[in-house]
Amino acid sequence: MRHAPSLAAVSEQDLQDSPFAALGLGRPIVQAVLEKGYTSPSAIQQQCIPAVLAGHDVMAAAQTGTGKTAGFTLPMLERLRHGPHARNNAVRALVLTPTRELAAQVGENVAAYSRHLDLRSDVVFGGVKINPQMMRLRRGTDVLVATPGRLMDLAQQNAVKLDRVEILVLDEADRMLDMGFIRDIQKILALLPPKRQNLLFSATFEASIKKLATGLLHNPVQLQATPENRTATTVEHVLHPCDMARKPDLLSHLIKSNNWQQVLVFSRTKHGANRIADRLSGEGMEAAAIHGNKSQGARTRALAGFKSGEVRVLVATDIAARGIDIHQLPHVVNLDLPNQAEDYVHRIGRTGRAGHNGHAVSLVAAEEHELLRAIERLIGNPLPRQEVPGFEPTIHSAPPLDLSGGRGRGGSRPAAGGRREGGRSRPVSAPGSGRRGRPLAR
Ligand code: AMP
Repeated sequence: MRHAPSLAAVSEQDLQDSPFAALGLGRPIVQAVLEKGYTSPSAIQQQCIPAVLAGHDVMAAAQTGTGKTAGFTLPMLERLRHGPHARNNAVRALVLTPTRELAAQVGENVAAYSRHLDLRSDVVFGGVKINPQMMRLRRGTDVLVATPGRLMDLAQQNAVKLDRVEILVLDEADRMLDMGFIRDIQKILALLPPKRQNLLFSATFEASIKKLATGLLHNPVQLQATPENRTATTVEHVLHPCDMARKPDLLSHLIKSNNWQQVLVFSRTKHGANRIADRLSGEGMEAAAIHGNKSQGARTRALAGFKSGEVRVLVATDIAARGIDIHQLPHVVNLDLPNQAEDYVHRIGRTGRAGHNGHAVSLVAAEEHELLRAIERLIGNPLPRQEVPGFEPTIHSAPPLDLSGGRGRGGSRPAAGGRREGGRSRPVSAPGSGRRGRPLAR
């Protein structure tokens, strides 16, 4: 992944005038950023780049879509480019991510931003053969992006040495804790040298993250790009009330009648994701499912097909969808509301990214009223209701879904200690909306 430095394509004036240069980034990095088409730094980048360049630890509340990846990668590369290269199987900067998809995505970004630098970067995650990874790591890696489980396997087999790490990034730390990676993270931390720079990114800052941060960060600069748990303002939300049994029909109707060409659909369960992808495929739409029971090859193929436009509808569970970053993804559909209200924010983070307009549609049945109230309370706004003619709900009140076993957990995510209250039967109303107990259908 090394690229020969060349500074030909972008003009000298562009390089000098770029606001990225004003933040303290060097020319090869500014050039790579300009070639990506970025003209100005996002809010998190404006705050994060100088802080990292100054050598501070950083604790940032930044959800996906804010440009956080460049926020930590650009200054990290700037610091690394001035030091000696990694040798043997050492690593100089380590980025930990919760999912394989996010690791691959961050790895692509690192490669793009370092294309004019003489730095080596690599990505390792589970679900694929370990041997090729061991071979690649032998030469040393300036930036390694990894999921915690596979990194521990590699470290245990002495395929990678972490005692020279200069910069550690924990990306989407809240999700790593949710997914039960805390023990692997602690084992990895024990392999790192005590003197290093630490950057922690998380969408939310609940108690468990604060605890992790306390042990990890030294006098961190605290940053917040968008208010916590707010969805991107460029996303247009709409809620279509309907009966549970009619959701597949309504989804198919919406895709066809609106002629949506690239739709990311969220299903609460793996089984549900398979079923809806099969159904849409049966109707002649290119559809694929992506979830934890699929092999890594199938996940990568489905995602690549979706990005290239061959796959029109990608049906995902929450965990599998982390890290999906598609430029200007126009439509996100919640076939089911998520069990955790916070996941609504994560799901919606897939659309309307970095200033583009997005469209987030939720199909909501009476059984999901409690989940809906928790979401509306979290985001601070009621979702606008819109009935679809021919799909008006006939059931206006129903017992809440049982999320404790069978269908609810169904694999969309593991139990998240202490966070399950978001979708439980505790009655909550959207503040100021006076919606407590209000039937969805009006
Ligand atoms: P992230 O929040 O890191 O997942 O980034 C979200 C999206 O914003 C990605 O597609 C990036 O390529 C894009 N992006 C990051 N920084 C900028 C910027 N300064 N200007 C425009 N797009 C950006």
